[in-house]
Amino acid sequence: MQWTDLRSMTAPELLSVVTELGEKKFRAGQIYDWLHKKLVRGTDQITNVSPAFLGRLTEAYPLYGVRREACLSSDLDGTKKYLFRLHDDNVIESVLMPYKHGNSVCISSQAGCRMGCRFCASTLLGLTRNLYPSEMLDQIYSIQEETGQRVSHVVVMGTGEPFDNYDSLCRMIEILSDPKGLGISRRNITVSTCGLVPQIYRFADDLPQVTLAISLHAPNDEMRRKLMPVANRYSMEELMEAARYYTEKTKRRVTFEYSLVRGVNDGKDQARELARRVAGMNCHINLIPVNPISERIFEQPDRSRVDAFAGLLAGNHVQVTVRREMGRDIQAACGQLRKSYVERSGS
Ligand code: SAH
Repeated sequence: MQWTDLRSMTAPELLSVVTELGEKKFRAGQIYDWLHKKLVRGTDQITNVSPAFLGRLTEAYPLYGVRREACLSSDLDGTKKYLFRLHDDNVIESVLMPYKHGNSVCISSQAGCRMGCRFCASTLLGLTRNLYPSEMLDQIYSIQEETGQRVSHVVVMGTGEPFDNYDSLCRMIEILSDPKGLGISRRNITVSTCGLVPQIYRFADDLPQVTLAISLHAPNDEMRRKLMPVANRYSMEELMEAARYYTEKTKRRVTFEYSLVRGVNDGKDQARELARRVAGMNCHINLIPVNPISERIFEQPDRSRVDAFAGLLAGNHVQVTVRREMGRDIQAACGQLRKSYVERSGS
Protein backbone atom coordinates (compact mmCIF):
# COMPACT_ATOMS: atom_id res chain seq x y z
CA MET A 1 0.00 0.00 0.00
CA GLN A 2 1.53 3.26 -1.13
CA TRP A 3 -0.73 5.55 0.88
CA THR A 4 -0.45 5.18 4.56
CA ASP A 5 -2.65 7.98 5.84
CA LEU A 6 -6.33 7.40 6.31
CA ARG A 7 -7.86 10.36 4.50
CA SER A 8 -5.70 9.80 1.40
CA MET A 9 -7.29 6.41 0.74
CA THR A 10 -9.93 5.87 -1.91
CA ALA A 11 -13.06 3.97 -0.85
CA PRO A 12 -11.81 0.60 -2.20
CA GLU A 13 -8.46 1.04 -0.45
CA LEU A 14 -10.10 1.87 2.84
CA LEU A 15 -12.25 -1.22 2.43
CA SER A 16 -9.20 -3.41 2.02
CA VAL A 17 -7.40 -2.05 5.10
CA VAL A 18 -10.52 -2.24 7.26
CA THR A 19 -11.13 -5.87 6.34
CA GLU A 20 -7.42 -6.68 6.69
CA LEU A 21 -7.62 -5.45 10.27
CA GLY A 22 -10.50 -7.87 10.83
CA GLU A 23 -13.52 -5.53 10.77
CA LYS A 24 -16.72 -5.99 8.78
CA LYS A 25 -16.90 -4.51 5.30
CA PHE A 26 -19.65 -2.00 6.06
CA ARG A 27 -17.44 -0.29 8.66
CA ALA A 28 -15.25 0.96 5.81
CA GLY A 29 -18.24 2.69 4.22
CA GLN A 30 -19.17 4.28 7.53
CA ILE A 31 -15.66 5.57 8.15
CA TYR A 32 -15.32 6.91 4.60
CA ASP A 33 -18.62 8.74 5.08
CA TRP A 34 -17.39 10.37 8.29
CA LEU A 35 -14.11 11.39 6.72
CA HIS A 36 -15.29 12.63 3.32
CA LYS A 37 -18.94 13.57 3.73
CA LYS A 38 -19.54 14.45 7.37
CA LEU A 39 -16.03 15.95 7.42
CA VAL A 40 -15.01 15.08 10.96
CA ARG A 41 -11.83 16.74 12.18
CA GLY A 42 -10.76 13.71 14.25
CA THR A 43 -11.78 10.05 14.73
CA ASP A 44 -13.10 10.91 18.21
CA GLN A 45 -16.10 12.45 16.43
CA ILE A 46 -16.99 9.12 14.81
CA THR A 47 -19.89 7.74 16.86
CA ASN A 48 -20.92 4.44 15.23
CA VAL A 49 -17.57 2.63 15.09
CA SER A 50 -15.87 1.31 18.22
CA PRO A 51 -13.11 3.53 19.58
CA ALA A 52 -10.96 0.43 20.05
CA PHE A 53 -11.05 -0.36 16.35
CA LEU A 54 -10.52 3.29 15.38
CA GLY A 55 -7.50 3.30 17.68
CA ARG A 56 -6.03 0.27 15.93
CA LEU A 57 -6.80 1.76 12.53
CA THR A 58 -5.18 5.11 13.20
CA GLU A 59 -2.18 3.46 14.77
CA ALA A 60 -1.53 1.73 11.46
CA TYR A 61 -2.73 4.59 9.25
CA PRO A 62 -2.64 8.05 10.83
CA LEU A 63 -5.27 10.68 10.12
CA TYR A 64 -3.60 13.67 8.52
CA GLY A 65 -5.27 16.96 7.79
CA VAL A 66 -4.86 20.69 8.28
CA ARG A 67 -5.37 22.88 11.33
CA ARG A 68 -6.42 26.49 11.04
CA GLU A 69 -3.67 28.80 12.20
CA ALA A 70 -4.96 32.18 11.02
CA CYS A 71 -7.63 33.66 8.77
CA LEU A 72 -7.89 37.07 7.14
CA SER A 73 -11.23 38.30 5.75
CA SER A 74 -11.66 40.92 3.08
CA ASP A 75 -14.08 43.71 3.87
CA LEU A 76 -14.42 44.38 0.16
CA ASP A 77 -15.71 41.13 -1.32
CA GLY A 78 -15.89 38.40 1.33
CA THR A 79 -12.67 36.69 0.22
CA LYS A 80 -10.98 34.84 3.06
CA LYS A 81 -7.37 33.79 3.20
CA TYR A 82 -6.52 30.85 5.49
CA LEU A 83 -3.20 29.83 6.91
CA PHE A 84 -3.22 26.12 7.82
CA ARG A 85 -0.74 24.10 9.83
CA LEU A 86 0.16 20.53 8.85
CA HIS A 87 0.95 17.64 11.21
CA ASP A 88 4.69 18.27 10.81
CA ASP A 89 4.30 22.01 11.51
CA ASN A 90 4.65 23.18 7.94
CA VAL A 91 2.18 25.91 6.98
CA ILE A 92 0.21 26.41 3.77
CA GLU A 93 -2.30 28.92 2.40
CA SER A 94 -5.78 28.53 0.91
CA VAL A 95 -8.32 31.10 -0.26
CA LEU A 96 -12.12 31.10 -0.19
CA MET A 97 -13.80 33.20 -2.88
CA PRO A 98 -17.56 33.57 -2.63
CA TYR A 99 -19.15 34.05 -6.08
CA LYS A 100 -22.76 34.31 -7.15
CA HIS A 101 -22.51 30.83 -8.65
CA GLY A 102 -21.14 29.32 -5.43
CA ASN A 103 -18.16 29.12 -3.15
CA SER A 104 -14.81 28.55 -4.80
CA VAL A 105 -11.75 27.40 -2.86
CA CYS A 106 -8.20 27.85 -4.09
CA ILE A 107 -5.90 25.20 -2.60
CA SER A 108 -2.16 24.65 -2.36
CA SER A 109 -0.62 21.46 -3.76
CA GLN A 110 2.84 21.79 -2.21
CA ALA A 111 4.46 23.53 0.75
CA GLY A 112 6.55 25.98 -1.25
CA CYS A 113 7.47 25.44 -4.89
CA ARG A 114 10.60 24.76 -6.92
CA MET A 115 9.52 26.22 -10.27
CA GLY A 116 11.11 29.61 -9.64
CA CYS A 117 8.74 31.90 -11.59
CA ARG A 118 10.19 35.37 -11.18
CA PHE A 119 7.01 37.22 -10.14
CA CYS A 120 5.66 34.59 -7.74
CA ALA A 121 6.01 34.81 -3.95
CA SER A 122 5.33 31.10 -3.38
CA THR A 123 8.59 30.00 -4.90
CA LEU A 124 10.93 32.41 -3.09
CA LEU A 125 11.77 29.94 -0.30
CA GLY A 126 11.87 26.89 -2.59
CA LEU A 127 10.04 23.61 -2.15
CA THR A 128 9.61 22.20 1.34
CA ARG A 129 7.54 19.14 0.44
CA ASN A 130 4.64 17.74 -1.53
CA LEU A 131 1.23 17.70 0.10
CA TYR A 132 -0.59 14.42 0.64
CA PRO A 133 -3.99 13.99 -1.00
CA SER A 134 -5.51 14.26 2.50
CA GLU A 135 -3.86 17.64 3.05
CA MET A 136 -5.22 18.99 -0.21
CA LEU A 137 -8.70 17.65 0.55
CA ASP A 138 -8.73 18.90 4.10
CA GLN A 139 -8.15 22.51 3.01
CA ILE A 140 -11.53 22.27 1.29
CA TYR A 141 -13.16 20.25 4.06
CA SER A 142 -12.15 22.56 6.87
CA ILE A 143 -13.27 25.66 4.95
CA GLN A 144 -16.65 24.05 4.24
CA GLU A 145 -16.93 23.03 7.88
CA GLU A 146 -16.09 26.48 9.13
CA THR A 147 -18.37 28.43 6.83
CA GLY A 148 -21.21 25.91 6.95
CA GLN A 149 -21.61 26.50 3.22
CA ARG A 150 -21.06 24.04 0.41
CA VAL A 151 -17.91 24.42 -1.67
CA SER A 152 -18.96 24.09 -5.32
CA HIS A 153 -15.73 24.88 -7.18
CA VAL A 154 -12.10 24.04 -6.48
CA VAL A 155 -9.09 25.58 -8.17
CA VAL A 156 -5.62 24.14 -7.66
CA MET A 157 -3.89 27.49 -8.06
CA GLY A 158 -2.43 28.13 -4.63
CA THR A 159 1.16 27.54 -3.64
CA GLY A 160 2.95 24.79 -5.55
CA GLU A 161 3.04 23.21 -8.96
CA PRO A 162 0.29 20.57 -9.00
CA PHE A 163 1.90 18.59 -11.84
CA ASP A 164 5.08 18.36 -9.74
CA ASN A 165 2.93 16.35 -7.29
CA TYR A 166 1.04 14.49 -9.98
CA ASP A 167 -0.03 11.22 -8.35
CA SER A 168 -1.31 12.86 -5.18
CA LEU A 169 -3.15 15.45 -7.27
CA CYS A 170 -5.01 12.79 -9.27
CA ARG A 171 -5.85 10.80 -6.16
CA MET A 172 -7.15 13.97 -4.49
CA ILE A 173 -9.41 14.68 -7.49
CA GLU A 174 -10.67 11.11 -7.52
CA ILE A 175 -11.73 11.35 -3.87
CA LEU A 176 -13.06 14.92 -4.16
CA SER A 177 -15.33 14.01 -7.06
CA ASP A 178 -16.48 10.72 -5.51
CA PRO A 179 -20.27 10.86 -4.87
CA LYS A 180 -19.60 8.99 -1.61
CA GLY A 181 -17.70 12.10 -0.51
CA LEU A 182 -18.35 15.73 -1.41
CA GLY A 183 -19.00 14.71 -5.01
CA ILE A 184 -17.71 17.93 -6.54
CA SER A 185 -18.12 17.69 -10.30
CA ARG A 186 -14.82 17.26 -12.14
CA ARG A 187 -15.88 20.05 -14.46
CA ASN A 188 -15.90 22.36 -11.45
CA ILE A 189 -12.29 21.52 -10.63
CA THR A 190 -9.52 23.51 -12.32
CA VAL A 191 -5.85 22.64 -12.23
CA SER A 192 -3.29 25.28 -13.14
CA THR A 193 0.19 24.31 -14.33
CA CYS A 194 3.26 26.37 -15.20
CA GLY A 195 3.59 24.06 -18.20
CA LEU A 196 5.06 20.64 -17.38
CA VAL A 197 4.50 19.15 -20.82
CA PRO A 198 4.60 15.37 -20.15
CA GLN A 199 2.04 15.72 -17.35
CA ILE A 200 -0.31 17.72 -19.60
CA TYR A 201 -0.54 14.67 -21.88
CA ARG A 202 -1.01 12.31 -18.95
CA PHE A 203 -3.65 14.53 -17.40
CA ALA A 204 -5.66 14.74 -20.62
CA ASP A 205 -5.69 10.94 -20.67
CA ASP A 206 -6.21 10.33 -16.94
CA LEU A 207 -8.76 13.00 -16.00
CA PRO A 208 -10.27 14.43 -19.20
CA GLN A 209 -13.23 16.05 -17.42
CA VAL A 210 -11.10 18.36 -15.29
CA THR A 211 -10.50 21.93 -16.46
CA LEU A 212 -6.91 22.79 -17.32
CA ALA A 213 -5.26 26.19 -17.06
CA ILE A 214 -1.74 26.79 -18.35
CA SER A 215 0.38 29.70 -17.16
CA LEU A 216 1.80 31.28 -20.29
CA HIS A 217 2.74 34.85 -19.33
CA ALA A 218 4.61 35.51 -22.58
CA PRO A 219 4.02 35.17 -26.31
CA ASN A 220 7.44 33.72 -27.17
CA ASP A 221 10.24 31.62 -25.72
CA GLU A 222 12.67 34.44 -25.22
CA MET A 223 10.39 36.45 -22.98
CA ARG A 224 8.95 33.40 -21.27
CA ARG A 225 12.44 32.21 -20.28
CA LYS A 226 13.05 35.52 -18.55
CA LEU A 227 9.93 35.08 -16.42
CA MET A 228 9.67 31.32 -15.95
CA PRO A 229 12.64 28.92 -15.66
CA VAL A 230 10.36 26.06 -16.80
CA ALA A 231 10.49 27.62 -20.27
CA ASN A 232 14.08 26.43 -20.52
CA ARG A 233 12.85 22.86 -20.26
CA TYR A 234 9.92 23.03 -22.67
CA SER A 235 9.54 25.32 -25.65
CA MET A 236 6.34 27.21 -26.44
CA GLU A 237 5.93 24.98 -29.45
CA GLU A 238 5.99 21.84 -27.32
CA LEU A 239 3.67 23.47 -24.79
CA MET A 240 1.17 24.53 -27.43
CA GLU A 241 1.19 21.06 -28.94
CA ALA A 242 0.40 19.57 -25.53
CA ALA A 243 -2.38 22.13 -25.01
CA ARG A 244 -3.82 21.23 -28.40
CA TYR A 245 -3.70 17.56 -27.44
CA TYR A 246 -5.70 18.38 -24.29
CA THR A 247 -8.38 20.26 -26.24
CA GLU A 248 -8.70 17.54 -28.86
CA LYS A 249 -8.67 14.64 -26.46
CA THR A 250 -11.08 16.19 -23.97
CA LYS A 251 -13.14 18.36 -26.33
CA ARG A 252 -12.73 21.06 -23.72
CA ARG A 253 -11.43 24.59 -23.81
CA VAL A 254 -8.02 25.24 -22.30
CA THR A 255 -7.37 28.42 -20.33
CA PHE A 256 -4.12 30.34 -20.70
CA GLU A 257 -3.20 32.57 -17.79
CA TYR A 258 -1.22 35.65 -18.66
CA SER A 259 0.00 37.90 -15.84
CA LEU A 260 0.51 41.38 -17.20
CA VAL A 261 3.70 43.05 -16.03
CA ARG A 262 4.15 46.71 -16.83
CA GLY A 263 6.74 47.35 -19.50
CA VAL A 264 7.63 43.65 -19.77
CA ASN A 265 4.91 41.65 -21.52
CA ASP A 266 1.99 44.10 -21.77
CA GLY A 267 2.65 45.85 -25.10
CA LYS A 268 0.60 45.86 -28.28
CA ASP A 269 3.19 43.80 -30.13
CA GLN A 270 2.99 41.11 -27.48
CA ALA A 271 -0.79 41.08 -27.66
CA ARG A 272 -0.64 40.58 -31.43
CA GLU A 273 2.03 37.89 -31.14
CA LEU A 274 -0.01 36.12 -28.50
CA ALA A 275 -3.10 36.24 -30.71
CA ARG A 276 -1.12 34.63 -33.55
CA ARG A 277 0.18 31.93 -31.19
CA VAL A 278 -3.24 30.76 -30.10
CA ALA A 279 -5.10 31.38 -33.39
CA GLY A 280 -7.61 28.65 -34.09
CA MET A 281 -7.22 26.97 -30.71
CA ASN A 282 -10.15 26.12 -28.47
CA CYS A 283 -8.89 28.40 -25.73
CA HIS A 284 -9.50 31.36 -23.53
CA ILE A 285 -7.00 33.85 -22.18
CA ASN A 286 -7.27 35.07 -18.62
CA LEU A 287 -5.34 38.28 -18.07
CA ILE A 288 -4.11 38.83 -14.52
CA PRO A 289 -2.61 42.24 -13.71
CA VAL A 290 0.46 41.12 -11.77
CA ASN A 291 0.28 41.33 -7.98
CA PRO A 292 3.46 43.15 -7.03
CA ILE A 293 5.55 41.24 -4.48
CA SER A 294 7.92 43.10 -2.24
CA GLU A 295 10.99 41.04 -3.21
CA ARG A 296 10.87 42.03 -6.90
CA ILE A 297 10.14 45.12 -8.89
CA PHE A 298 7.28 44.03 -11.08
CA GLU A 299 4.50 46.53 -11.52
CA GLN A 300 0.90 46.35 -12.67
CA PRO A 301 0.04 48.07 -15.93
CA ASP A 302 -2.56 50.85 -15.82
CA ARG A 303 -6.12 49.82 -16.40
CA SER A 304 -6.10 51.43 -19.84
CA ARG A 305 -3.13 49.30 -20.91
CA VAL A 306 -4.83 46.16 -19.64
CA ASP A 307 -7.96 47.09 -21.59
CA ALA A 308 -5.94 47.80 -24.72
CA PHE A 309 -4.21 44.42 -24.47
CA ALA A 310 -7.56 42.66 -23.96
CA GLY A 311 -9.07 44.67 -26.82
CA LEU A 312 -6.37 43.61 -29.25
CA LEU A 313 -6.87 39.95 -28.37
CA ALA A 314 -10.63 40.22 -28.72
CA GLY A 315 -10.20 42.05 -32.03
CA ASN A 316 -8.21 39.04 -33.24
CA HIS A 317 -11.05 36.67 -32.28
CA VAL A 318 -9.39 35.42 -29.11
CA GLN A 319 -11.66 34.86 -26.12
CA VAL A 320 -10.34 36.94 -23.26
CA THR A 321 -11.25 37.97 -19.72
CA VAL A 322 -9.50 40.12 -17.15
CA ARG A 323 -9.34 38.50 -13.74
CA ARG A 324 -11.18 40.44 -11.10
CA GLU A 325 -8.90 41.14 -8.20
CA MET A 326 -10.29 39.52 -5.08
CA GLY A 327 -9.38 40.32 -1.52
CA ARG A 328 -7.22 43.25 -2.43
CA ASP A 329 -7.18 44.49 1.15
CA ILE A 330 -5.94 41.17 2.59
CA GLN A 331 -3.60 40.54 -0.26
CA ALA A 332 0.02 40.67 -0.36
CA ALA A 333 0.10 38.46 -3.45
CA CYS A 334 -0.57 34.72 -3.24
CA GLY A 335 2.01 33.03 -1.07
CA GLN A 336 3.06 36.10 0.88
CA LEU A 337 1.07 35.26 3.98
CA ARG A 338 2.79 31.89 4.22
CA LYS A 339 6.18 33.38 3.47
CA SER A 340 5.97 36.03 6.15
CA TYR A 341 4.80 33.40 8.64
CA VAL A 342 7.62 30.96 7.85
CA GLU A 343 10.20 33.72 8.08
CA ARG A 344 8.82 34.99 11.36
CA SER A 345 8.77 31.58 13.04
CA GLY A 346 12.23 30.75 11.69
CA SER A 347 13.84 33.82 13.17
N1 SAH B 1 2.08 26.46 -10.30
C1 SAH B 1 0.84 26.65 -10.95
C2 SAH B 1 -0.28 27.12 -10.03
C3 SAH B 1 0.01 28.17 -9.01
S1 SAH B 1 0.10 29.85 -9.47
C4 SAH B 1 0.99 27.58 -12.13
O1 SAH B 1 2.07 28.11 -12.33
O2 SAH B 1 0.04 27.73 -12.91
C5 SAH B 1 -1.45 30.35 -10.10
C6 SAH B 1 -1.33 31.46 -11.11
O3 SAH B 1 -0.95 32.70 -10.49
C7 SAH B 1 -0.27 31.17 -12.17
O4 SAH B 1 -0.74 31.56 -13.44
C8 SAH B 1 0.86 32.06 -11.73
O5 SAH B 1 1.75 32.31 -12.76
C9 SAH B 1 0.11 33.29 -11.25
N2 SAH B 1 0.88 34.17 -10.38
C10 SAH B 1 1.86 33.87 -9.52
N3 SAH B 1 2.33 34.98 -8.93
C11 SAH B 1 1.62 36.00 -9.40
C12 SAH B 1 1.63 37.41 -9.17
N4 SAH B 1 2.48 37.97 -8.32
N5 SAH B 1 0.74 38.16 -9.85
C13 SAH B 1 -0.13 37.60 -10.71
N6 SAH B 1 -0.19 36.30 -10.98
C14 SAH B 1 0.68 35.50 -10.34
